[in-house]
Amino acid sequence: MSEKIYPVNPEVAAQAHIDNAKYEAMYEQSVNDPDAFWGEHGKRLDWFKPYTKVKNTSFDPHNVNIRWFEDGTLNASYNCLDRHLETRGDQVAIIWEGDDPSESENITYRDLHERVCRFSNALKAQGVEKGDVVTLYMPMIPEAAVAMLACTRIGAVHSIVFGGFSPEAVAARIEGAKSKVVVTSNYSLRGGKIVPLKANVDKALEHPAAAALVTSVIVVKRVDQDVAWNEKVDVWYEDLVAAASAECAPEEMEAEAPMFILYTSGSTGAPKGLEHTTGGYMVYAAMTHEYAFDYKQGDIYWCTADVGWVTGHSYIVYGPLANGATTLMFEGVPNYPDNSRFGRVIEKHKVNQFYTAPTAIRSLMQQGEDVLGDSDLSSLRILGSVGEPINPEAWEWYYRVIGKNRCPIVDTWWQTETGGLMILPLPGATPMKPGCASRPFFGVQPALVDAEGVELEGEAAGNLVIKDSWPGQSRSIWGDHERFTQTYFTTYKGMYTTGDGARRDADGYYWITGRVDDVINVSGHRMGTAEVESALVAHPAVAEAAVVGYPHALKGQGIYVYVTLQSGFEESDELIKELRLHVRKEIGPIASPDLIQFAPGMPKTRSGKIMRRILRKIAEDDFDALGDTSTLSDPSVVDDLIENRMNRK
Ligand code: ATP
Ligand code: MG
Repeated sequence: MSEKIYPVNPEVAAQAHIDNAKYEAMYEQSVNDPDAFWGEHGKRLDWFKPYTKVKNTSFDPHNVNIRWFEDGTLNASYNCLDRHLETRGDQVAIIWEGDDPSESENITYRDLHERVCRFSNALKAQGVEKGDVVTLYMPMIPEAAVAMLACTRIGAVHSIVFGGFSPEAVAARIEGAKSKVVVTSNYSLRGGKIVPLKANVDKALEHPAAAALVTSVIVVKRVDQDVAWNEKVDVWYEDLVAAASAECAPEEMEAEAPMFILYTSGSTGAPKGLEHTTGGYMVYAAMTHEYAFDYKQGDIYWCTADVGWVTGHSYIVYGPLANGATTLMFEGVPNYPDNSRFGRVIEKHKVNQFYTAPTAIRSLMQQGEDVLGDSDLSSLRILGSVGEPINPEAWEWYYRVIGKNRCPIVDTWWQTETGGLMILPLPGATPMKPGCASRPFFGVQPALVDAEGVELEGEAAGNLVIKDSWPGQSRSIWGDHERFTQTYFTTYKGMYTTGDGARRDADGYYWITGRVDDVINVSGHRMGTAEVESALVAHPAVAEAAVVGYPHALKGQGIYVYVTLQSGFEESDELIKELRLHVRKEIGPIASPDLIQFAPGMPKTRSGKIMRRILRKIAEDDFDALGDTSTLSDPSVVDDLIENRMNRK
């Protein structure tokens, strides 16, 4: 992997919240005396009743028990809204940028507070009580944030189902959570196209078990068009809030009261519905947001994720709003009206922090260096990446073309399960190595273990585990604590299993090498997918690459590569030879690809991650049972890959 190091820019360090000396001192305290450390940092929130106990956690598989700040009480929506009214009521809380570039809206803290209070009362009027689960199936419109905050205000638990999911997924999640109320919109708009959102809810409610539960479907009128209507359950959002009072006292919640349920992306199998609770999650989301993005008052912060994913929960809504930030919410897509859209939005709103995913960076990169046109990117100060390992080539491109060689890139490794960022370079503290997630956040104790669970010291590669709890950690799988224990705490006793592989270098920095399930074993050499993929992406012809193993008579496993070409490059046998040579040169003969298939598109989750388990099945010529494909974003991609597979029996 890239050995290049970008030292911390002294100007960035001088004005940053955290420089290296501070990082080291704080990190040490956070792991040596977590009670004192988090006892202090928990005060960044407003508590109705202050906590006296801080940490009470056990990773013992016979009794997995995770509790933080347990005798304190608070309200998440109060912390995101009410407490800011006096000091920054007229400051913009949410900048909403519509799918159509002519549509945008600035919502102040005062406006947002009022909208949330009204909708809180509306939910109550629909019979929602403290502890009830409300399902949100919504586009990226302000009402999505309003609905989240209204749920937490009245002590209801939200369960967001990403707006791209099918009626079956919606039904299963309504049933799983026993949810009585669904909030949706009549249609959604993406890339200029109208998507029938409510029709999917109608189809979900054709499932008798879901229909038996749901008493109301609250519908936001996003598009001025008719929609099928069921008088028994459907009700317009606009009618409800018009009739509701603008005052609603926030419910006093225990720190460990459930706050939301959220499903993982489904990259490695059926998604897991994780439960997050109020106090620890909020402390951790707010603190990581401030430090990772070096957020300062007045900054304009933009995270391009969808609220349907954990990134949207922690880093569009809860973290930024708890910090009194201005957070940008984007309804659209990067290539509408054209490929320069991200640049246009950055220019229009003078964005200071920009947080996106490697998949988006690679697709911009595929279009060439002038993809953002003449957009003025000079407002940018910090860049972020999340979701997958970022290939060093994509990192360099991001740094040079978007960041103009002056913005630190925060490569944030974390998971739905972790609630917030876990391993990342802090902009004022950590020298950057392209493609490297680097160092743990405060309170996070990563370690590497071998297959037997023996901890590896020094420079090493192995299974990434976390040795002790941190406040943002998920407390359970909703309704299935046994599955939670089994999935995360039984493989290596006393440690949280991440399911990811990593390498620790001589400086103690962590490099995520991919999913443990995806490790390839060629003639006894174990290889992570990230390294081989990054070597391929470094070739000028390659825009995106995915690597999997397949059974090989001599080597145990052979290396099967899927590549998507950079625009302007042609598929050819010559190119295949060249790519093979390129990988041999970059990594060594052991990593030489056995089979290379050109892939016009990759199978991805709806959150944009490559689903290697499907590619593995195709490479094994065993595609009858592809496993759970409900989270696949474009199923037609798979047909094409099967059609052109290289390993036919
Ligand atoms: P499932 O758990 O259902 O298979 P998922 O793991 O993709 O889905 P998420 O919780 O959305 O669901 O993603 C977390 C995973 O994403 C991590 O375990 C890791 O594999 C990957 N990931 C996220 N950020 C990074 C990053 N910065 N570098 C490397 N990998 C990352
Ligand atoms: Mg996962």
